[in-house]
Amino acid sequence: MTLNLQTNDLGKVIEADRAHVWHHLSQHKVYETVDPRVFIEGKGMRLWDAKGNEYLDAVSGGVWTVNVGYGRESIANAVRDQLVKLNYYAGAAGTVPGALFAEKLIEKMPGMTRVYYSNSGSEANEKVYKMVRQIAHRRHGGNKWKILFRERDYHGTTIGTLATSGQPQRAAQYGPYPDGFVMVPHCLEYRKQWDVENYGERAADAIEEVILREGPATVGCLVLEPVTAGGGVIVPPEGYWKRVQEICKKYDILLHIDEVVCGLGRTGKWFGYQHFDIQPDFVTMAKGVASGYAAISCTVTTERVFEMFKDDASDPMSYFRDISTFGGCTAGPVAALENMRIIEEEGLLENCIRMGDYCLSRLEELKGKHKVVGDVRGKGLFLGAELVADRETKEPLEEKLVQAVVADCLKNGVIIGATNRSLNGLNNTLCLSPALIATKADIDRIVDAIDSALTTVLG
Ligand code: PLP
Repeated sequence: MTLNLQTNDLGKVIEADRAHVWHHLSQHKVYETVDPRVFIEGKGMRLWDAKGNEYLDAVSGGVWTVNVGYGRESIANAVRDQLVKLNYYAGAAGTVPGALFAEKLIEKMPGMTRVYYSNSGSEANEKVYKMVRQIAHRRHGGNKWKILFRERDYHGTTIGTLATSGQPQRAAQYGPYPDGFVMVPHCLEYRKQWDVENYGERAADAIEEVILREGPATVGCLVLEPVTAGGGVIVPPEGYWKRVQEICKKYDILLHIDEVVCGLGRTGKWFGYQHFDIQPDFVTMAKGVASGYAAISCTVTTERVFEMFKDDASDPMSYFRDISTFGGCTAGPVAALENMRIIEEEGLLENCIRMGDYCLSRLEELKGKHKVVGDVRGKGLFLGAELVADRETKEPLEEKLVQAVVADCLKNGVIIGATNRSLNGLNNTLCLSPALIATKADIDRIVDAIDSALTTVLG
């Protein structure tokens, strides 16, 4: 790999980064003491930094995003061609890529009919919360305004979406929050809250208990991640989703599935919820929609929901009074169209299932070898390994040791992730989300790096 930067350019880049960039999720007191990493190029699953170091990226751009891998010229070309033709128009008019991507997307989502564009996962989720509140005002006389969310789930970084954060460290310092957001228990069987046979059904029944406590007439919506991401890679147990759907129907509660991470193939189906035979009322998506080649998010609804916003043409308050300025960018949907074509033509859903199964089996081997690996879990190429100090008590491994495992992998050129610094003590899950193009050799290299890191850090 040849770098285009001269040595003195590199110095300037690092200087500019140090002096002016406020990095996401970073304690700068620490960041300023470490050698800064500035990535300059990517191809497939590989990244190169400004010093020419090569890395295998097992987290698709840090946060589960680059599903089709780096360096896709066909996406870049499609975006370029579209930008010179028409870069943008927002509001009450269409664009060619906006219309065509919506049509393609809806083909993959039986039962859904409408796509509302914005730019980030948080924004897509906020749109749902606003729709639910408007439905409450217009249809339920102000009732059904509460939104339930689940412990350990995450839905975004805005004040509204933080009000539905099931991860205390994300929300702790940014309150007070608006009223009407209520938490239901998590469903991770490894950390059992009920000693029962049908754990999935029991965990879903806990949602019904909250609904009954709050009053079913006040609850309008339930938001869930299909597989919880940052909260520890949690796949709901057998029986959970069927009960969830029954409960929503029973109490006329809209079901919102947050596919910001799982959407567009991460779990081996187009959407995570499609593993579970459920029919949501809202689906939101962002990261993998255009694999990070352009900013785009979508709030997708059923025709039933859509119809609720068009009943009275003479009433200026009857439609969805919302806009997203950059929801009018054409780069997003055009990149998304090409991203979807790549997933289909290269058979990446199938590869995701094959490689996901292989990766899970390799993680199981690690569990056999290192007693610190308490649980391994996931779906498709969305996997986690929970590290514990003691297998019997399941006491979480100390965070600094978990971070040392991540750092050792990085030293050996493999980028993995871990659940972020939590206040609930559950910051102990290693996270893997390689691009859907991963090969067996890539998976071996990733799992071997973790194996070696566990030995180096923990003996
Ligand atoms: N929903 C889930 C499940 C997420 O994991 C995230 C971000 O990680 C979001 C929503 C928020 O997305 P964004 O950062 O694009 O606003």
